[in-house]
Amino acid sequence: MDAMPEGDTVWLTAHRLHAALAGRVLTRFDLRVPRFATADLTGRAVLDVTPRGKHLLTRFEGGLTLHSHLRMDGSWRVYDTGARWDGGPAHQIRAILGNAERTAVGYRLPVVELLRTADEEQAVGHLGPDLLGPDWDPAKAVANLLADPARPLGEALLDQRNLAGIGNVYKSELAFLARVTPWLPVGELPAGIPERLVATAQRLLEANKQRFDRRTMTSGRNPSQKLYVYGREGRPCPRCGTPVRKADQGDGSRERPTYWCPRCQTGPAA
Ligand SMILES: [Zn+2]
Repeated sequence: MDAMPEGDTVWLTAHRLHAALAGRVLTRFDLRVPRFATADLTGRAVLDVTPRGKHLLTRFEGGLTLHSHLRMDGSWRVYDTGARWDGGPAHQIRAILGNAERTAVGYRLPVVELLRTADEEQAVGHLGPDLLGPDWDPAKAVANLLADPARPLGEALLDQRNLAGIGNVYKSELAFLARVTPWLPVGELPAGIPERLVATAQRLLEANKQRFDRRTMTSGRNPSQKLYVYGREGRPCPRCGTPVRKADQGDGSRERPTYWCPRCQTGPAA
């Protein structure tokens, strides 16, 4: 199963990092990226760890922020200081933040940069309303989603400038719940559907943010089935029994596996 981090996973990661690091003084600080390899923040306290869409912001005393992003397969692991690390080979480690009790190790992080806290907006200011953030604004998210009427729904949902936190799994699941294909231009969504779609996205991410690796869209009626269509190619649609189909949907830069029911989801298909 695709474990690509989405907003709920990033939220939980931030929650765990915050619990391990916030309010404690760093005894270890090691960024294994060339640009920041000499940065040393040991002796400073971590103030907080905040998720912003799929970005993580770790703020330190002295007005500095570590910006990281998990993208496809990055992860942060938290260990008791002194315990063995098991998140992957040492050469995949990009960041280590430790205090006397706990040590956080960032593996395969494609984005690791140290910024002035005052400059955080340069890194994440392009994001739309954060589905799990204190600034969540459903009306703005809907307006952003519909801003380009010809754009396929799946692309518009993944564009973090519209709303922040949806990844590829949620994209397919949300289109299924809205009974439209991910290729339907957003301008052709039936009345009321964009608002419901955005509300459903927020509700599912909120419900799943505490359930690491146990994400479920299906309200637990059948515990063995946690997803409606994602990853279920050829298996029966839970609504109408038609075999679920899979195709790639791209935005020109990369193609993403996309799942839908060709019978009960209306709109164009791949
Ligand atoms: Zn169906």
